[in-house]
Amino acid sequence: MTHPAQPKASHFINGAYVEDTAGTPIPVIYAATGEQIATVYAATPAIVEQALSTAKEAQKAWAKMTGTERGRILRRAADIMRERNHDLSVLETYDTGKPLQETLVADATSGADALEYFGGLAASLTGEHIPLGEDWVYTKREALGLCVGIGAWNYPTQIACWKGAPALACGNSMVFKPSETTPLCALKVAEILIEAGAPAGVFNVVQGMGEVGGALVTDPRVDKVSLTGSVPTGKKVYAAAAAGMKHVTMELGGKSPLIIFDDADIDNAVGGAINGNFYSSGQVCSNGTRVFVQKGIKEKFLARLAERTGNAIIGDPMDEATSFGPMVTENQMNIVLGYIEKGKEEGARLICGGNRADKDGYFIEPTVFADVTDDMTIAREEIFGPVMSVLDFDTEEEVVARANDTEFGLSAGVFTKDFTRAHRVIGNLEAGSCFINSYNDAPVEAPFGGVKASGVGRENSKEAIKHFSQVKSVYVRMGDVEAAF
Ligand code: NAD
Repeated sequence: MTHPAQPKASHFINGAYVEDTAGTPIPVIYAATGEQIATVYAATPAIVEQALSTAKEAQKAWAKMTGTERGRILRRAADIMRERNHDLSVLETYDTGKPLQETLVADATSGADALEYFGGLAASLTGEHIPLGEDWVYTKREALGLCVGIGAWNYPTQIACWKGAPALACGNSMVFKPSETTPLCALKVAEILIEAGAPAGVFNVVQGMGEVGGALVTDPRVDKVSLTGSVPTGKKVYAAAAAGMKHVTMELGGKSPLIIFDDADIDNAVGGAINGNFYSSGQVCSNGTRVFVQKGIKEKFLARLAERTGNAIIGDPMDEATSFGPMVTENQMNIVLGYIEKGKEEGARLICGGNRADKDGYFIEPTVFADVTDDMTIAREEIFGPVMSVLDFDTEEEVVARANDTEFGLSAGVFTKDFTRAHRVIGNLEAGSCFINSYNDAPVEAPFGGVKASGVGRENSKEAIKHFSQVKSVYVRMGDVEAAF
């Protein structure tokens, strides 16, 4: 019997599901059991061509609609997503393995927020009037054209919407390639947009590995590439896009610092560290995986952290009581287990976890290492799993310098009751998305993105509009033209 997660076909182009079984088969594995639940096929060159030519053509009429009309469609799509939240969340859980407890509140709902927010902004995209004596200049905010979105595997619905919603609000069309690890959810986003009234071809989904992504990025018809992925992939995609002088948004990896001062509320700080390391089993780009704890509260913090981490309910992601799910794939599990071994070998003190959980599927226990030093591998490299490194510090000046000593710059957080210090520390940290007495909140109203190797551009908020549109300026002369000859 066909599994309920099996999509009707692999791709969604020009308003309909499209199949081409000549492409490489991509098995979809449910991470909680290891069973294959679906198969999709990587896009062949013919599928890529169909998607790009359709999106190129559809964009013209879409951009000519008023912002109010485009916005209405996006907001209708948001309503449909919310009505179907339960089914979409179950699908997200099949796609990623994340517990339903999370997917019910953080995936389709976050996608719906983006559709609603950018739907609301669509009608407000105006230019300005610049008087110059009798003459004047006016500006227009125009669409970029055809945009390509490429997703990572940790938030497949959210990533499709965070890219698709602002792109469409500005009058662009999109060809979206989900991660080959989680190909299912973006197809539902495409289906819902059509149901909400989006013209066929405005939002298309094609499946495939890096090769398909590469074919999309290098196509001369593409005006912009928005990637969510790792730093090495980001460097390749950025270079390929630069060769074609395309716009980019790069949402890449991180190794973010979370700094906890002696005066912090311990339970809030522990809660922040848990949210910033163990949500989605640690598969979150902005995670605060270097937890710097001031020496005065270190042992108290570690004791409370171990106690609360022990309350994690690891198990069947479809059971709403489960609060901690598996790694997305066996491969990702093995990478993370390798980092845990490195942590042990290099002399970090294991506080809790440290093993594969005794279950089917790709579960790893939430793991905390203390006495981690700046040079240890687990403190330097992005692990993308449930492994928290706790490092000690004495002074503010010292911790800021150490926190900034990394190629990454996605996020940073600080816990303290001293607000002057909180703002000063955040001001001195090299990071794009920051938190004071909190961690990992990502409302659509707030800009999201990194500095340094963690990325270029911003998603969400009014900032995303700037990254999916461009300004045309028009000089208007009222008098005669003076010329030298
Ligand atoms: P990845 O870099 O392996 O793949 C990301 C996407 O790029 C996939 O769809 C992949 O098929 C595609 N791709 C790979 N090579 C390509 C190429 N040469 N040309 C075009 N496309 C190509 O990342 P992943 O393992 O799927 O996701 C984990 C990474 O994503 C982590 O580093 C994480 O930090 C990052 N991430 C960042 C954010 C953010 O918003 N900053 C959010 C989620 C994940």
